[in-house]
Amino acid sequence: MYAALLAAYGTRKWWPADTAFEVVLGAYLTQATAWRSVERSIANLRQANMLTVEGIRGIAEETLRELIRPSGFVVRKAASIKTFVRFLDERYNGSLERMASQPTADLRAQLLTLPGVGPETADAILLYGLGHPIFVVDEYLRRVATRHELVAANVRYAELQALGDAAVASDSREETARHANELHALIVEVGKRHCGTAPRCDGCPLQPFLP
Ligand code: SF4
Repeated sequence: MYAALLAAYGTRKWWPADTAFEVVLGAYLTQATAWRSVERSIANLRQANMLTVEGIRGIAEETLRELIRPSGFVVRKAASIKTFVRFLDERYNGSLERMASQPTADLRAQLLTLPGVGPETADAILLYGLGHPIFVVDEYLRRVATRHELVAANVRYAELQALGDAAVASDSREETARHANELHALIVEVGKRHCGTAPRCDGCPLQPFLP
């Protein structure tokens, strides 16, 4: 299925961000929000010169709320983003590189203690922001996997993640991360094009794999 998606769509070059910190911000902002809205918030932050750890550290929370308004849930998201920067400052001296050098399981556990961080946000930060070899589970993967009867309808996050991790496991950490990045991005693409709330299977690259 991975090969079929890659042949159909090519490499997706994800995540759509210029820096690791921009990935972190995007991972928070995209919660319960379409990416188009996130892009408008990121553009506001860029224009205000706030796409950096220093920028977010120094900005008033109220101002941050205004800049990220297109993404919605601004009170919770602004507070969560400010908390992330405080966490980064206190534990890693404000350095995402230093944070990235820690073991994946430790970082995941730390991220999951932060407000506004669930498994999908934690894993998106780990994979796309910090380059750790971990699979990101989202609603699109859930739809594809259940509709193809790879998992039960009430599947849990960890089970779907194990399915993804197995699909991308490679000899090196870098290769595993590269495939995890690519496959997740391809699943988002097939989800947007075909496997939405109502599946449009005709012409879908995964149609030959239907049970
Ligand atoms: S649209 Fe149909 S064929 Fe495509 S991934 Fe979804 S269920 Fe499978």
